[in-house]
Amino acid sequence: LTDVIVVGGGIFGQVAAATLRREGAIVEVLDARRPGAGSPPAGCVLRPSWLAGMPASDLDAAMMLLDELYGLRELELESIPLRSVVRCHRVEPELILGKPVIHGAVLSVGEDGSVHTESGVETPRVGTVVATGQWAQELTPWVGDVTGRWGWSHRGPPVQRNTVRVWAPYRQTVAFNMSDGRSWSGDAQALLEKSKVPDKEAKSRARCAEAVGCDVSRLETMCGARPYAAQRDTEPALLRRRGRVWSITGGAKNGTAAAAWAARRLVREMLG
Ligand SMILES: Cc1cc2nc3c(=O)[nH]c(=O)nc-3n(C[C@H](O)[C@H](O)[C@H](O)COP(=O)(O)OP(=O)(O)OC[C@H]3O[C@@H](n4cnc5c(N)ncnc54)[C@H](O)[C@@H]3O)c2cc1C
Repeated sequence: LTDVIVVGGGIFGQVAAATLRREGAIVEVLDARRPGAGSPPAGCVLRPSWLAGMPASDLDAAMMLLDELYGLRELELESIPLRSVVRCHRVEPELILGKPVIHGAVLSVGEDGSVHTESGVETPRVGTVVATGQWAQELTPWVGDVTGRWGWSHRGPPVQRNTVRVWAPYRQTVAFNMSDGRSWSGDAQALLEKSKVPDKEAKSRARCAEAVGCDVSRLETMCGARPYAAQRDTEPALLRRRGRVWSITGGAKNGTAAAAWAARRLVREMLG
């Protein structure tokens, strides 16, 4: 019998599933593979100064959990034009997102944790975690506002050096090599849907091609929405419960650390 069903196989859902499984729970992850999800384009870069909203003890615990589950890698970025070194960490996204999921859309979730799909209803023993990102309100309308803010990232040829360059307030172009030998680059845009226009995408591609040092045509672009959730001031992500249903998402640009924070809370609340 399944202990926990996780709806959504993005960063939040998969980190939660891995953490619950580590505690011995039998967990099933369902995912509809919806276009525009936030996790596929994510670089999974973590930089403590970008996580100012998270208390230091929570941040330390989240980083430790990610290290235990996936192995945190150090990432040094050369800051352009200052040439100082910016130290961050990262998780290889494939290690989080490459875990198996059952493909399928969930139509509704009951407060007893029952999960309704086209093939029937399943009720897990402990409860259900809804981790559906920008679509959180569809299955858990009681979570409050969740807004998708769109951005692009790009895979391309390797960079000679990993770099970060500020191009506008709170906007940096980051380019670094991933473990598969190709580069990841992104420019931290977080646009409302109406502003997600081809001109902005073209500018993102041009900025990132310059950072990578290649022609724009060599970049393979991915697009997704970061879920911005109305959460309590003291909390780095959204985590709400109703009956046997927990809904988690958010984290804005820091979804990876925020997902680990939520996963630790879920273990306490669901498994006691
Ligand atoms: C360009 C870009 C770069 C980023 N870079 C970083 C970074 O470097 N570091 C970092 O920490 N964060 C980064 N982020 C932010 C981070 O990716 C997000 O905070 C995170 O992806 C949110 O994950 P999530 O699991 O809540 O949502 P999502 O990834 O959107 O996952 C939701 C999942 O739910 C599924 N789903 C939805 N509805 C249903 C349904 N009814 N039934 C079944 N399944 C359903 C979808 O198919 C989807 O897979 C980046 C985001 C973007 C867009």
